[in-house]
Amino acid sequence: MPTESVAALDIGGTKIAGALVDSTGRILVRAQRPTPARENGETVMGAVESVLAELSASPLWSSATAVGVGSAGPVDASAGTVSPVNVPGWRGFPLVQRVRAATGGLPVTLVGDGVAIAAAEHWQGAARGYDDALCMVVSTGVGGGLVLGGRLHPGPSGNAGHIGHISVELAGDPCPCGSRGCVERIASGPNIARRALDNGWRPGPDGDASAAAVAAAARAGHPVAIASFDRAARALAAGIAATAALADIRIAVIGGGVANAGEVLFAPLRRALRDYATLSYVRDLEIVPARMGTDAGLVGAAAAALLESRDGTEEPAAVVGG
Ligand SMILES: [Zn+2]
Repeated sequence: MPTESVAALDIGGTKIAGALVDSTGRILVRAQRPTPARENGETVMGAVESVLAELSASPLWSSATAVGVGSAGPVDASAGTVSPVNVPGWRGFPLVQRVRAATGGLPVTLVGDGVAIAAAEHWQGAARGYDDALCMVVSTGVGGGLVLGGRLHPGPSGNAGHIGHISVELAGDPCPCGSRGCVERIASGPNIARRALDNGWRPGPDGDASAAAVAAAARAGHPVAIASFDRAARALAAGIAATAALADIRIAVIGGGVANAGEVLFAPLRRALRDYATLSYVRDLEIVPARMGTDAGLVGAAAAALLESRDGTEEPAAVVGG
C-alpha cells in the first residue's frame, strides 16, 4: 500500500482540476472548478484555493508531501510565476508562492502543461519505456514536452518541448505568439476548422463547425476537409521531424481533441513524415496516439512533483507491482 501522495493541479483556460495522487499514479480524491479566465488575477487564484480547500478537507490530505502544478503557459519555473495566454489576469503571477501559502508550506513544483503531459505519458502511457520522447497535445492549441536520456526535460523555465511555436512556414501567417507560420497556427483545431471554412466546406444542419466536424467530413470523403487535415498533418510532421533531428527522439506521442480524429490525422501525418524525417537516425521514428486521456495533466503534475522530491534520481514507482 502506497502511503505517500502528492497534490496535483492542472490549470487551464476553461477548468482548474485538482487531485490527490498516490505514488503509483492512482487518483484518490478529485476537485474541480471552472476557470474564471476573464476575471482579475485574485478571482482566478480564489478558484485555485477553493480546489485546494476541497482536497485538504479529505482525510487523505495528511499523506500529501508535495504539490505538483501543471499550468497553461508560458510558465517561469525558476521565478515560480505563470502568464497563461488565455488567462489575462495572470501576468507574472506568483502561483508557486500562493499555492505554498494555501497548503501550509508544502513544496511546490511548477511545469508547463505540455511538460506535465510528457511526464504522464512517460510514467504510465504511450512513452513508457522510451528514454527519448516527444509528447504532444493537439487541440485548441498545440503543446508538448520532452523526455531526454530517460528524464523529463522541463528546461530551466519549465516550457521545454513547446513544439506549437516552432515555425514551419517562414513567411506564414502571423501567430498570436508574435512569430509567423508556427505549427499551432496551421495545425490547431480552430485553424483546421477555419481553413476548411475558407476553402468552401460548410457545416451540416447542426451548425457544428469544429475540427471534430471537419474530421467527420474528411472521413466521409469531403475533399476540402481532407485537405485541411492534410495541411495540419504536414505542419505537425515538419515540427516533429525538426525535433527528432535536433534531439534524437525515438517516439512522438500525440494526444488532444484533434488527435481523436484518429487515422484522419495519423495517416497523412505518417505519409508527411516520410517527406520530412529523412536522415538515417530519424527515419524510424514511431508516431503513436496518447494513452493517458483527460487525466494526463493531473497525473503528469503529480509525476513532476514526485520526480522533484526524489531529486530526479529515479522514476516514480511503476504501476505494475507498485
Ligand atoms: Zn506561434
